[in-house]
Amino acid sequence: MDKRIYNFSAGPAVLPEEVLLEAQKDLFMLPGVGMSILEISHRSKTFDKIHAQAKEDLKKLLNLGDNYDLLFLQGGASLQFSMVPLNLMPPVNKADYLVTGTWSKKAVKEAKRVGTVNIAASTESENFNRIPKQEEFKLDSEAAYVHYTSNNTIYGTEWHYVPEVGNVPLVCDMSSDILSAPIDVNKYALIYAGAQKNMGPSGVTFVIIRKDMIERSQDTLHTMLNYKTHTDNDSLYNTPSVFGIYIIGLVAKYLLSIGGLSEMKKINQKKADLLYSCFDNSNGFFKGHAVPDSRSIMNITFRLPSEELEKKLIADATAAGFDGLKGHRSVGGLRASIYNAFPLKGVEDLVSFMEDFRKKNS
Ligand SMILES: *Cc1c(COP(=O)(O)O)cnc(C)c1O
Repeated sequence: MDKRIYNFSAGPAVLPEEVLLEAQKDLFMLPGVGMSILEISHRSKTFDKIHAQAKEDLKKLLNLGDNYDLLFLQGGASLQFSMVPLNLMPPVNKADYLVTGTWSKKAVKEAKRVGTVNIAASTESENFNRIPKQEEFKLDSEAAYVHYTSNNTIYGTEWHYVPEVGNVPLVCDMSSDILSAPIDVNKYALIYAGAQKNMGPSGVTFVIIRKDMIERSQDTLHTMLNYKTHTDNDSLYNTPSVFGIYIIGLVAKYLLSIGGLSEMKKINQKKADLLYSCFDNSNGFFKGHAVPDSRSIMNITFRLPSEELEKKLIADATAAGFDGLKGHRSVGGLRASIYNAFPLKGVEDLVSFMEDFRKKNS
């Protein structure tokens, strides 16, 4: 293989070429430092600067006020399934969860170890092909928080509104759509995301926490599981993923250079629209899993008339340089993950490949 191919992987996923090329240079030697980014101390001045700049650029991108702390943790989004309830559930020990897919269910599983979970809405009986409507929620006004998953990586659905939860703190797993579009962070008490889908490499979990939430964390918690440890130490209580934070910094800088999240959203929408209109114009040959008002702009899931045809399309596409299109087993079919860094040209090429396939096979 001597050229880069189209990478539709759900995560770890495609990164901007500009970022990879800059990292390639710094991998041998950081300018003026004489050491690789992989070799420097997390307590060095060089890393201090990289870390502070990454935070500053993310704050700019997300329009974050000083009432939020920004953390780079480890353990993946999966550890946040535990840290969120451990820190935020006491003393009331109950929370509301809006369940829209596999990741929401995993979050519920951990929360139940800490206290009482009220499933305030779920679309599981419809195989998670849609996002619930506000009118369907059965919220508890005394809940410690409301948790939801903004983009369902496996099912290919995405919230296109922010749940209205009154005065209850809103917590969101944004692993697969963070930085894909502008968000109003002020509506949230805590946001978390595994970096490996839309922000950088695996090994970093990005957390945005409103400062008043930190007061909930009890001293009896294990040190590493306590948000206060990490806010008090600016994510440096233990050795963070130096390289991961560095790449996230480059990605943030890249996003600012193209005009920020509103520009990014325009491009993402254009890419997603191309694929969805290919389905809608296929006389039912390509059938999206998500109902139209719940369609994700990041992970696009679809079926063909038979499993045989699905296998054939995946095989033919792989041979033609479109990698990672096999769907997750809980939905079947195909999934095209088209995160921020996935090029528009790649979507255009896939659509013409798919149209060609349909003509030959229907
Ligand atoms: C991938 C993913 C996770 C799990 O992330 P890890 O970093 O592997 O723990 C959680 N939630 C969502 C929405 C995801 O897409």
